Amino acid sequence: MDKEVFDLIAKEETRQKEQLEMIPSENYVSPAVREATGSVLTNKYAEGYPQKRYYSGNMVIDSLETLAIERGKKLFGAEHINVQPYSGSNPNFAVYLAACELGDTILAMELTHGGHLTHGSSVNLSGKMFKFVHYGVDLATGLIDYESVYRIAKEHKPKLIVAGGSAYPRIIDFGRFREIADEVGAKLLVDMAHFAGLVVGKVYPDPVVVADFVTSSTHKTLRGPRGGLIICKSAYAKDVDRWVFPGLQGGPLEHVIAAKAVCFGEAMHPDFKSYAEQIVRNAKVLAETLSKGGLKLSSGGTDSHLILIDFGRDGLTGKEASDALEKVGIIVNKNTVPGETRSPFITSGIRLGTPALTTRGMTEKEMVLIGNWIVEVLAAHLDETVLTKVGKAVKELSTKFMVP
Ligand SMILES: *Cc1c(COP(=O)(O)O)cnc(C)c1O
Repeated sequence: MDKEVFDLIAKEETRQKEQLEMIPSENYVSPAVREATGSVLTNKYAEGYPQKRYYSGNMVIDSLETLAIERGKKLFGAEHINVQPYSGSNPNFAVYLAACELGDTILAMELTHGGHLTHGSSVNLSGKMFKFVHYGVDLATGLIDYESVYRIAKEHKPKLIVAGGSAYPRIIDFGRFREIADEVGAKLLVDMAHFAGLVVGKVYPDPVVVADFVTSSTHKTLRGPRGGLIICKSAYAKDVDRWVFPGLQGGPLEHVIAAKAVCFGEAMHPDFKSYAEQIVRNAKVLAETLSKGGLKLSSGGTDSHLILIDFGRDGLTGKEASDALEKVGIIVNKNTVPGETRSPFITSGIRLGTPALTTRGMTEKEMVLIGNWIVEVLAAHLDETVLTKVGKAVKELSTKFMVP
């Protein structure tokens, strides 16, 4: 055994038990998901698709990938699903290439308003391959401004419109996006990387019925292994598959695909619906607690698993806030806010959420405690006495709740 590496893994295991994981894109997977990910399937090359491989010896692998596909189709009500994407980012590239020509116009949400790097950021390849135009939220309400989405769409006539993001706490009106896309002759992609688990649990609107393409990560609210997937209408199946392999990727990670099958199986269980419902109840109580404590939340609250605290241009920076919270064992991430004036390394906000804590069995009662600790730390972020006191309380609470 490699002591150097495994000692570090053991340390990380302890950290995950003792700290409160509140980054909204993180979760704790089941032992079955971890077992599949660590299995012998990692030894096998399987370029291609079931029954159409470039290597021999894929009899069992074909059955496994087919099982993942069948479960995925059933879980999401999908006409077609591709389970090979390595992460949540490459699915977006596969869809852009399936739906557009290089240089075509794509309309997506602005990164600082809650979008994602792969939605045409200038520092991401997507922004160099296509001509992205962006919509945002109304700065007064923090809500997507659908009128301006429509206006920009009419002006720029995009080939593709992207809905969904990483830091938008509210429900997105996919029907409205569909209408806008139809009016300007665009295709619609919903990137549900963040809220896929909420869709499955029926606490968030289902984009699969209205969108031409749906992309997702599998490791966020869906609680599977690190990876991605693409759902699309049958008409686009061939192009999507072709752009995943051989277009963008080589050999698929069949150990991760097996873990995706396990994850889909778990998500079909009635317990998963209760889990998704509890995620949202927890987030709402946490949001109320933070608001009562005087913190300003972007859009005033949440309908989902995530909350964006906006300190304003003269307030605490996101970096100061996340550093102080890390000292007490509350793990969040600094995040840009709509109308951001600071750099992405400093920011004016933090983003936090409830998927991981809900997996550990925490409910409304713990959210009130944790919310009040966050308020206390942010009000006295340099006061060592406060930090020590809250730090002790966090560790005490955290070690009472099992990590799967
Ligand atoms: C997390 C995320 C992705 C992809 O994430 P990976 O880190 O590549 O797995 C894509 N789109 C959105 C909106 C996301 O939040």
